[in-house]
Amino acid sequence: MLFASVIVNKRAQAVDRLFTYAVPAELEGTAACGSIVKIPFGRQHSEGVIVELSTIRPPGDYDIKDISAIVSKRPIFNGELLALSRFIADYYLTPQAVVLNAMLPFSMAFGGRLPQALTVKRYYLEQAKPLRLSPKQELVWQFLQQNEGASEQELLKLVSSAVLKRMRDNRMIMRREERAAAACEIVNSGQEVKLNGEQQAALAAINAEKRGARRPFLLIGVTGSGKTEIYLRLIEETIAEGRQAVLLVPEIFLSSQMVDFIRRRLGYKAAVLHSGMTASERRITWEQVAAGEYSVVVGARSAVFAPVPNLGLIVIDEEQDGGYKQDNAPRFHTRTVAQKRAELAGAQLVLGSATPSIESYYQAEQGAYAQADLTKRYYLAPLPLVQICDMRTELQEGNRSLFSRLLQTKLADRLKKGEQSLLLINRRGYYSFFSCRNCGSVIYCPHCSVPMAYHDSERLLKCHYCGSKLQPPEVCPTCGSKAIRHFGAGTQRVADEVKKLFPTARVGRLDYDINSQAGEGQRVYRAMLSGQYDILVGTQMIAKGHDFPAVTLAAVMAADITLNIPDIRSAERTFQLLTQLSGRAGRRLLQGEAVIQTYLPEAYPIRLAADHDFKGFYSEEIKQRAEHNYPPFCALARIVFLGLDRHITQKAAEAYGAALREKAGEYAQICGPAPAPWEKIKDRYRYNILIKCRLQQELNQLLRDVCRQMEAKNRLFNDIIVKIDIDPYSVM
Ligand code: ADP
Ligand code: ZN
Ligand code: ZN
Repeated sequence: MLFASVIVNKRAQAVDRLFTYAVPAELEGTAACGSIVKIPFGRQHSEGVIVELSTIRPPGDYDIKDISAIVSKRPIFNGELLALSRFIADYYLTPQAVVLNAMLPFSMAFGGRLPQALTVKRYYLEQAKPLRLSPKQELVWQFLQQNEGASEQELLKLVSSAVLKRMRDNRMIMRREERAAAACEIVNSGQEVKLNGEQQAALAAINAEKRGARRPFLLIGVTGSGKTEIYLRLIEETIAEGRQAVLLVPEIFLSSQMVDFIRRRLGYKAAVLHSGMTASERRITWEQVAAGEYSVVVGARSAVFAPVPNLGLIVIDEEQDGGYKQDNAPRFHTRTVAQKRAELAGAQLVLGSATPSIESYYQAEQGAYAQADLTKRYYLAPLPLVQICDMRTELQEGNRSLFSRLLQTKLADRLKKGEQSLLLINRRGYYSFFSCRNCGSVIYCPHCSVPMAYHDSERLLKCHYCGSKLQPPEVCPTCGSKAIRHFGAGTQRVADEVKKLFPTARVGRLDYDINSQAGEGQRVYRAMLSGQYDILVGTQMIAKGHDFPAVTLAAVMAADITLNIPDIRSAERTFQLLTQLSGRAGRRLLQGEAVIQTYLPEAYPIRLAADHDFKGFYSEEIKQRAEHNYPPFCALARIVFLGLDRHITQKAAEAYGAALREKAGEYAQICGPAPAPWEKIKDRYRYNILIKCRLQQELNQLLRDVCRQMEAKNRLFNDIIVKIDIDPYSVM
């Protein structure tokens, strides 16, 4: 008789333990650790995952029910992923079932219906654009052109299958069967690339680490220093050893140049996971990756769970990026998970960045991480000259425009020379607020404590969090003044102002709003790359994304916006963003320039970013962290309480706070509860408690004890949602 220990697919903490089931004789051949099974649970059926098999009946005199069916023919999770899921569940205080679900890019219930074919149908353009196309055909044509091909599922969202068939019959488009993770043929293989001295030294250091202590390796290289080439070498060596590599990027769209580079050099050996994939494509790819059919998997943070059978290398590019922290449960940080997975697999972890996170650099300083530096750009172009422009002086001297006189001169100069410029608006909400010039009050969302954003094109106020809409008021609801209008500068406003200043300039615009329209983001990028714009106005995306070789001027409109956000990483984020942006100016042999407009020119993140001085910034910031006892000097957790009633939410938070203080004794510091900086979102009030401990284990134990105690005691707070965030990235 065979017994299976099963994690049941339920989100509740109370059932986060192993349940024993008997494996019926007819299923004994197929039951394996990591298989998804159907099981009776209470009065219903549920899915579950087998994590252990044993021939010994567990002690205790109770009825053991039978597994009803095995959903997946082959195990879905290998031993390494099962162990990793347990680690994440413990570290982030999340039920293991929640973690297992988050690892899978498809639903557990989907496990059974494995599509027959392991390929998907993709469409491509077959000829030059025909003269006559019907409106529907035009739609398909545009989509295929912008996206360089598309899957059948994507196209069927636009038109019917009859339209596609007709276009195929007329040889306008063609259809190919392809593997789901759409790689392509190797384009420029055989081209010999020689590493320069710094690159060689870094590669040798990483390899020494791989053969030795195998500490995580921090590769610090200024933008353009050739980190990608080193990643590629490491991947090729991993493949030569018969193992697989995982390459993580903050976001596939923003990293598409690197992804294209890897595809061109590795072709079909590379699988690229992206958000446009359908559930069945994800399911197929998972099988193929698990079968070892790909040598490298490229993807955003969830690709850290790619089920490669013999992991030899994980690379995290731009390791400082906030996108590596997941903000719903399990609230893991990719770096933490990757470090554990590399340890389990005996793989090497490489973290690459021009501006590493404070945490990682601290680890390197302490010797817990190994480290190498690339100090020069590969093409030896000097780093851009950065000028800080004090906007207070501008105002004093009568310039009320969004553009300093310096920036205006520089833009004019670029336009004259036919060179391109980038203008960054570094704000989270990237639209204007609606506020009163008379009394200064701002229109807030009635459901969320955040200012509403003004959308000029629709003349509407919209909430960025809950989506509610409002007509902008004619008079101020507070003081009745008519001097109420939109302020601040969103991408639209800045683009309009640029056009007023330079009527002949061709101005493009890119923000998350535009990028969320199918194919639009790609179109704007291509237009910029091919020189159809003189100036590109955008949010963070333009600082993080592609290289534009013809850009010689990069400017930020108001650098202090991100600095003024009351959050733990505001200084760090501001420094990183400014450094990234100025790194965009002047590639290859063109000397680049950057302009930072600010009201706080002496603030250290701004001053040191202008000097490209990461180490200077690090030593300032680490002093601040030490003084205020923030990570890396403590283990930090945040508990957020959400409730519809302010009073009850506060009471619940206070009860937790009291319990925490009572248990904490000497070793923990409890801050709060206090209303979160964004006090209300989607009608729910939010209270924060921050907990600081010397050691991660102490923090974990304290939270575990207190949560158990509170869950047992407080039926009163049933309607309150309690979210625990270990190593929070933000406390807003
Ligand atoms: P990073 O990722 O560090 O910002 P990249 O890897 O994008 O820098 O490299 C910058 C440029 O230098 C790219 O155009 C890349 O192709 C080129 N490059 C880097 N290393 C080499 C090399 N060893 N030989 C030839 N070109 C290189
Ligand atoms: Zn007013
Ligand atoms: Zn709202």
